[in-house]
Amino acid sequence: MPASPPLPPELLGVVARHWGFTSLRPLQERAIHAAVAGRDSLVVLPTGGGKSLCYQAPAAARTGLTVVVSPLISLMKDQVDGLTRIGVAAARLDSTLTAAERAAAAEDIRRGAVRLVFTSPERLVNTDVYRMLRDAGAHTVAVDEAHCVSHWGHDFRPEYRQLARLREFFPGAAVHAYTATATEQVRRDIIDQLGLNSPDILIGNFDRPNLTYRVLPRVDSLGQVREVIDRHRGDAGIVYCLRRRDVDDMTAALKAAGYKAVPYHAGMTPEDRRRTQELFASEDADVVVATVAFGMGIDRSNVRFVAHAGMPKSIEHYQQETGRAGRDGLPSECVLLYSGADFLTLKAITEKSAQEAGAAPEYLAASLRHLDDMARYCRGAVCRHKALVGYFGQGYEADNCGACDICLGDTQEVPDALVVAKKILSCVARVKEAFGIAHVIDVLRGANTATVRSRGHDQLSTYGLLKEAAKADLRDWVYQLIGQGVLVQAGDEYPLLKLNARSWAVMRGELEVRLIQLARQPARGERPEGGDRGTGVLPAGTDPELFEILRQLRRQVASRLAVPPYQVFPDTVLAEFARGRPTTPDAMRRVSGVGDRKLADFGPTFLQAINVHCLRTGLPTDVPLPPTAVGRVPAAAKVSVRMSPKKDLAFRLFRDEAALADVAHQTGLTRATVTEYLAEFISVEKPASIFGWVPEDVCERVAAAAEVHGTARLKPVFLALNEEVNYDDIRVVFAFLAARGEGA
Ligand code: ADP
Ligand code: ZN
Repeated sequence: MPASPPLPPELLGVVARHWGFTSLRPLQERAIHAAVAGRDSLVVLPTGGGKSLCYQAPAAARTGLTVVVSPLISLMKDQVDGLTRIGVAAARLDSTLTAAERAAAAEDIRRGAVRLVFTSPERLVNTDVYRMLRDAGAHTVAVDEAHCVSHWGHDFRPEYRQLARLREFFPGAAVHAYTATATEQVRRDIIDQLGLNSPDILIGNFDRPNLTYRVLPRVDSLGQVREVIDRHRGDAGIVYCLRRRDVDDMTAALKAAGYKAVPYHAGMTPEDRRRTQELFASEDADVVVATVAFGMGIDRSNVRFVAHAGMPKSIEHYQQETGRAGRDGLPSECVLLYSGADFLTLKAITEKSAQEAGAAPEYLAASLRHLDDMARYCRGAVCRHKALVGYFGQGYEADNCGACDICLGDTQEVPDALVVAKKILSCVARVKEAFGIAHVIDVLRGANTATVRSRGHDQLSTYGLLKEAAKADLRDWVYQLIGQGVLVQAGDEYPLLKLNARSWAVMRGELEVRLIQLARQPARGERPEGGDRGTGVLPAGTDPELFEILRQLRRQVASRLAVPPYQVFPDTVLAEFARGRPTTPDAMRRVSGVGDRKLADFGPTFLQAINVHCLRTGLPTDVPLPPTAVGRVPAAAKVSVRMSPKKDLAFRLFRDEAALADVAHQTGLTRATVTEYLAEFISVEKPASIFGWVPEDVCERVAAAAEVHGTARLKPVFLALNEEVNYDDIRVVFAFLAARGEGA
């Protein structure tokens, strides 16, 4: 990545003054460069990645007008309110304005009093709005949620197609497209449709390190969803269901059980839907039960969990829907309840709607492929973070993410996985790669079916080789082998199992495979006592009581101003207040996310509350804050949402400086997981020394190499030390350096 010249100081000043951010994220910096240079760009960042700043900051820093195209009125309103709140002049042009409001906005635009105008594609293209904006000197058009332009995206909107005329309406303006959808096809489509001119294509890292992903077999959806909600009592969450009917049933059941749940789906009236959004945004409802229709219009950044009661339609949908969790960067949980039947249900739904819409056959085929990819993910045995970023074409370095069911050891390894895999693969070979999953399973289990007999497959050496295995498990394993690329499923209508070069490598014993036994029961014993707000979410040193007090205060302030609470301050800022306990405006202003305007508007109220609390409890105030995870979660902050009994045991052993091998032995966890826990332990409890785990001389070597190569990645240090120090040790030393404030 070529180093870009520094950004103009005025721009950084504007970001500090209005937004109160102390730094830009790497890709934001590059995206802002493109915007400042007036060069077309396509910016792909996951939800929560900070796309809006990429067009808002350059627009605020220069004269003239930036037009922002946005698909939903609620999104526009939110952004305009948010900008106004931090002192950036913005307006919107949409159908909800009264004639007088519209005239006022037009007048402001004409006399150059606003920097950003938000509008919808239809309004921009079909009315004379574009003429007014052009005449007012629009130099930039930012297209938000740009994937809506593509059939291949998960949220195609026909009105976005009309944006093909942007160039004609705004000749000479720079056009920037922003999306969280990363597939190649969608990207190409955006560039073509919007006519981007040799754009700077900037693609961010797709991993969301603060999210913990879990996939559980669905045994009792209501009970399982309740467990997730209970783990996050008092916090916000979204429960996605496949069908409207399921939404209604789930909402009713949750309400009956005493939860503040509200429904959302396309079958509701617009007023009812708006009401749901408002209740959720104002924190009067904690749980929204929704079909995929819900989400894009919601900007609540402190959603702490997303539960899927059934399989989503594609990995892009899943990424998008889970992306709504933890947009503020604090740890959040995503739980997907999966059953093999979901695939068939969704297939039927997809086929029906494709038929009704008269969709092209290749479109249906693509949809079915997406379903298939999603099902494979659900059954997969690889780290979820790795699988997700892998789907978007990115690599994942860590061996253990410490934040998914697989890596956290929620699942059990099948003993003798290699033997089981060899049996499955040789059975595929024996039936000459001419049968599908069901038949191969029948043969392996020694089933006495007509097809088996008529083909003489009961005579095969592989007949009945896996008699004892449950059918459901065998199916899972077959899919896991497919997921690991050592077995192939080919053919659309009747997919057959085929072998590839990797299959033969497994059969020769040259390639390792892993098979996991999905937990049939959710980990029931692991609920935190009392089910209170997951304090594990808050950074170490945060006073949970003060955090709660500040949240209440924020609700009061927000309701007085009739704005959603997150527009006052996001949770990250409140957590920083509860951690550093600033008592002067200066100290408060140093918290990332506190700009001049918010300090002036809300500072006194919050300072007073902090003062009162600290006087009452005697807690120290104005604690110097090491730079933290605001929006940029370091590895050590990948704190699991709850403390499982195993983790709890591991932490207790660490306090006695127990060796890694002992801890692994006593907890039954893998070495990799134990190492992750140790790193977390170090970052949370900050032990004075780590020599009990890593010898002093090794620590020294790693620390010296880290000075040269930084601590962003393990590999450069590993290589610099001639591969003599293992990754686990490097990981532990990095955690120690970070805990002492010496990490990068
Ligand atoms: P996206 O549109 O990509 O989903 P947002 O623009 O909503 O993301 O930003 C996500 C969150 O990150 C917001 O809470 C925002 O305030 C915060 N954020 C964005 N940029 C920064 C930054 N440079 N420093 C700190 N926080 C940031
Ligand atoms: Zn993982």
